[in-house]
Amino acid sequence: MRKIISVAIDGPAAAGKSTIAKKVAKILNFTYIDTGAMYRAFTYYVMKKGVDPQDEEAACALIPEVEINLEPGDVVLVNQEDVTKQIRETYISSNVSYIASYRAIRLALVEQQRRLARNNSVIMDGRDIGTYVLPDADVKIFQVASVHTRAIRRYEENLEKGIQCTLQQIEDDLVRRDYIDSNREFAPLRQAPDAVLLDTSLMSIEEVVVRVLEIIVAKTGYEVPKL
Ligand code: C5P
Repeated sequence: MRKIISVAIDGPAAAGKSTIAKKVAKILNFTYIDTGAMYRAFTYYVMKKGVDPQDEEAACALIPEVEINLEPGDVVLVNQEDVTKQIRETYISSNVSYIASYRAIRLALVEQQRRLARNNSVIMDGRDIGTYVLPDADVKIFQVASVHTRAIRRYEENLEKGIQCTLQQIEDDLVRRDYIDSNREFAPLRQAPDAVLLDTSLMSIEEVVVRVLEIIVAKTGYEVPKL
């Protein structure tokens, strides 16, 4: 039987983690787990309930009634409602970092993330995967890009999805989100000491995919199918 492998990709918002993780997962036939989508889905539910996302006590009180499922094809369900599109809207991006800073919510979602990695080879992307969720991951990558590059990438992605926004709004939101994510008390955004730093500012998607595959092979000896 093949060894179960875990790959952690962390980094700031819109660094292209999910684009790369999805492609690498497909090539290797690993399960891709988008942990940001889980925090976004929780935020969606809080706001749908009319609860202020900055009210920690009220948001955490909803934990027992929230069930989040990541389905094939990047489909995200909250209590069986398909919220795949809604969780990418600007009002969710602007509030998700408050929800993700609450310890009780993190503990509930981290437990689910660890369960998903137990029986399958996974590529998991997020902020705290290499430092907290899977500290023994076989491969850890910290993927970064300049804030301007990240803003342009996210802007173009939003245009494609029909999400209204300006480039300035996106850049401001990324900076604010990274600040909250890096400065929260519990499991903040940090590069793990044993993570490989990958600056993708000047790299194409294909170049990053090849580099990530090289890192996985070097760390695990895993045989990558011919591209
Ligand atoms: O990756 P994405 O931008 O979709 O993540 C949305 C937000 O969820 C992040 O800005 C962060 O606040 C939170 N998050 C987190 N820990 C993770 C993944 C995401 O705190 N592992």
